[in-house]
Amino acid sequence: MDIQDRILKLRKIIELNSYKYYVEDNPELEDWEYDKLFRELKELEEQNPSLITPDSPTQRVGGISEKFEQVAHKVRLYSLDNSNNYDELRQWYQRVLKDVGEHKTTQLSLLENTFDDIELVSELKIDGLAISLIYENGIFKRGLTRGDGVIGEDITNNLKTIKAIPLKLFQAIDIEVRGEIYMPVSSFEKLNENQIKNNQKTFANPRNAAAGSIRQLDPKITAMRDLSIFIYAAIIDKKYNVLTHSDAMDFCKKLGFKVNNYRKCQNIDEAIKFCSDMEEYRKTLNYATDGVVIKVNSFAKQNELGFTARAPKWATAFKFPPEEVWSTLNSVEFSVGRTGIITPVANITPVNLSGSIVSRASMYNFDEIKRLNINLNDEVLIKKAAEIIPKVVKSRKTNKSTPIVLPTHCPCCNTKLVEVENEVGIYCPNKENCKAQIKGRLEYFVSKQAMDIDGFGESIIEQLVEKKYVLKPSDLYKLTLEQLLTLDLIKDKSANNLLNAIKNSKNCIFSKFINALGIRFVGKESSDILAQHFIDINALKQATYEDLSSIEGIGVKMAESIIKYFSDKTNLEMIDEMLRLGVKIKNKYNGIQDLRLKGKSFVITGTLDTMSREEAQAKLKELGAKTPNSVSKNTNYVVVGANPGSKATKAQQLNIKILNEDELISILKGEYNE
Ligand code: NAD
Repeated sequence: MDIQDRILKLRKIIELNSYKYYVEDNPELEDWEYDKLFRELKELEEQNPSLITPDSPTQRVGGISEKFEQVAHKVRLYSLDNSNNYDELRQWYQRVLKDVGEHKTTQLSLLENTFDDIELVSELKIDGLAISLIYENGIFKRGLTRGDGVIGEDITNNLKTIKAIPLKLFQAIDIEVRGEIYMPVSSFEKLNENQIKNNQKTFANPRNAAAGSIRQLDPKITAMRDLSIFIYAAIIDKKYNVLTHSDAMDFCKKLGFKVNNYRKCQNIDEAIKFCSDMEEYRKTLNYATDGVVIKVNSFAKQNELGFTARAPKWATAFKFPPEEVWSTLNSVEFSVGRTGIITPVANITPVNLSGSIVSRASMYNFDEIKRLNINLNDEVLIKKAAEIIPKVVKSRKTNKSTPIVLPTHCPCCNTKLVEVENEVGIYCPNKENCKAQIKGRLEYFVSKQAMDIDGFGESIIEQLVEKKYVLKPSDLYKLTLEQLLTLDLIKDKSANNLLNAIKNSKNCIFSKFINALGIRFVGKESSDILAQHFIDINALKQATYEDLSSIEGIGVKMAESIIKYFSDKTNLEMIDEMLRLGVKIKNKYNGIQDLRLKGKSFVITGTLDTMSREEAQAKLKELGAKTPNSVSKNTNYVVVGANPGSKATKAQQLNIKILNEDELISILKGEYNE
């Protein structure tokens, strides 16, 4: 296909999908798929400028439907050009410096090609839809969609139903503001649940839900949908002497508009820092964002820079790397976990996911393979998950697809696999001799959150198991220097370090010891709860099902699993052996009757003056409190020290009580009154 044909084909696909997206609010492509086609068209046109036509999608924005009255914008609305990575951001900034510099031809800097930094403003890019609001004498008169940038659709009556849009400003002035209408993520999820209940079509994402809700012919429907807005631009009369974007935003706030936080950045490095700060922070927000918008702050400089056919040159949108990406499933590995469960792992063609190259993805269990109908050679959608390894969430057949053959026997020890009643998944029952399980249990035992024995990497454990020096955790306490020196790449020094690490782990904390046992369903938090309720390992061994299941935080499944673990003779013998070999378990909760903070949850952010964050957490835990690392609606208090992170902001948003260090100290002393 020659270049012209390719350009025509791309334009056709892009136009069709723009219509589906902007007019019908019903996209068929993923945004990144659309962006890829758009980028290809832009690059082809840049290389062949004679082929650019005014009706090309690269020269226009959005789309308009016939549904609403069409009204011309007083001042055109533009889209934004994108930067996909930090290098592209730097290139954009260099162009800005150069273009503004060229307006000052007398400057020596132009000769030397070095320019002074230009102040920027960075703000989150809200993933909703652009609208323009016109106020006369402080009264809301008219609201338009962006439409094609020149003509918008009049949706005034629908906009009036949104509480965050003031109908009357605090000052009686004429002003036009632009902003993004969005639907909070929680409302989007509720809306989709209702749509399913009522047998109606669900929305692909909060952006489409917002667009579909605001472009309803009946304002009553819009009023039922929970929509909100952030204002991000304003056209302010010169007489108010507002000279920068940041001042314009402050001005809007004072008039009663909802404006998101912004950060002034003295150069592109500071703006890049903002982008990287936002990558994690944005996940804590109840509204969807798809990037960061970076703008030149000074209006005078914005004017010098001007616009291209579809976007300002004085701003760019940094798009967050996709959290989902398509790849091909090349093969499947079946890994055996420490509990014997078999996990299918997908080997995929390496792809860039959220900034890192990924070549493996989890498929959870056999049922998931069937549910998603995943085959070898399928195209698979990989999503970043909270766990380290991303997961496969969707699949598409190709003409090479062939069914995945599921194993019937353990890939490690060849024992016949079994299903366990009431549990998802298939297991290798050969607990005693399956090397994969033995290694898994040892890796878990030495890990940070368990006995914290430093230096035992995968290869050392592998060799120890192969040589049969260590087959169960208690064997670690019998290891000798001679045995260690027979391992590959282990010299005197590292062998002694390992022995020392083992020796140090003998003085351990009860909660960590419980965790190290690797009892099914019992993790770090539940081990801590158990340590609060049982004085020592003997008390825990003798606990009945009733004792255990009556503890808050210990579920039925966990209680059953604990009972099962301690009724197995080999487990009891192994614990006794560890105690004989000198393991001393200290329960930090012993003697503490005072559990007055039980049921309360504290999150600590920033640096404290009188104690470290870990010390504060330990003290709170001693009093029965929970100290998770992230703020949620279940958090009772957020303790804020110096230079707090995003947790403080989140606490404010969720209306959670914020404490300073003095207040924390009085809580610890039992002197605090709310
Ligand atoms: P855009 O969304 O990439 O950027 C421009 C818009 O960003 C502005 O119009 C404004 O509404 C918004 N914005 C949010 N926060 C802002 C802030 N703080 N300051 C300034 N602007 C802010 O551009 P677009 O033209 O609206 O849409 C193009 C995008 O839409 C594409 O990148 C694509 O991802 C998506 N799209 C997808 C399909 C599809 O089929 N999936 C089709 C068409 C378009």
